[in-house]
Amino acid sequence: MRATPAQRVYLKPVIASIPKAAAFIVALLTAPCIHGQGPPKEAGPFRQPELAEIVKLDPTIKLDIRYATKNNFLGRPVYKQARAFLQRPAAEALVRVNQALKAQGFGLLVFDGYRPWWVTKILWDSTPTEKKSFVADPAVGSRHNRGCAVDLTLFDLKTGQGEDAQRIR
Ligand SMILES: [Zn+2]
Repeated sequence: MRATPAQRVYLKPVIASIPKAAAFIVALLTAPCIHGQGPPKEAGPFRQPELAEIVKLDPTIKLDIRYATKNNFLGRPVYKQARAFLQRPAAEALVRVNQALKAQGFGLLVFDGYRPWWVTKILWDSTPTEKKSFVADPAVGSRHNRGCAVDLTLFDLKTGQGEDAQRIR
């Protein structure tokens, strides 16, 4: 799957800098889940979900929503709209990261954020057994399903140069 190692490498430091989101993730990972046909059921003292659209909070964050294009490992779009959402605390933390990066001459380019559970199911069902370790098991769900994971890279503010510089306008 081209949710590539490079994206994961960038993702980790960003997530590490988001204490609220990290606490949220830990709460989710420790919650019990029941395997079934739909999203896993979870019990716990969760905050009310509130998805925020990233570019509405900071229009300088750029998007390249791969699952709205053919440029993903499925070779076809699964999203109807090229938009990215995160739970509000994670989205606000991402904005702080983007603002901090500006001083260093970089911006954030987001490939994916919140991912509906049914998309995770499609990705899982479309992946051969030997490659399933690269995709999230829908029986457990993913951090993307919970709106607290983001796939991204950096781009240079001066040159637009980044991992996918040719797509930046
Ligand atoms: Zn991801």
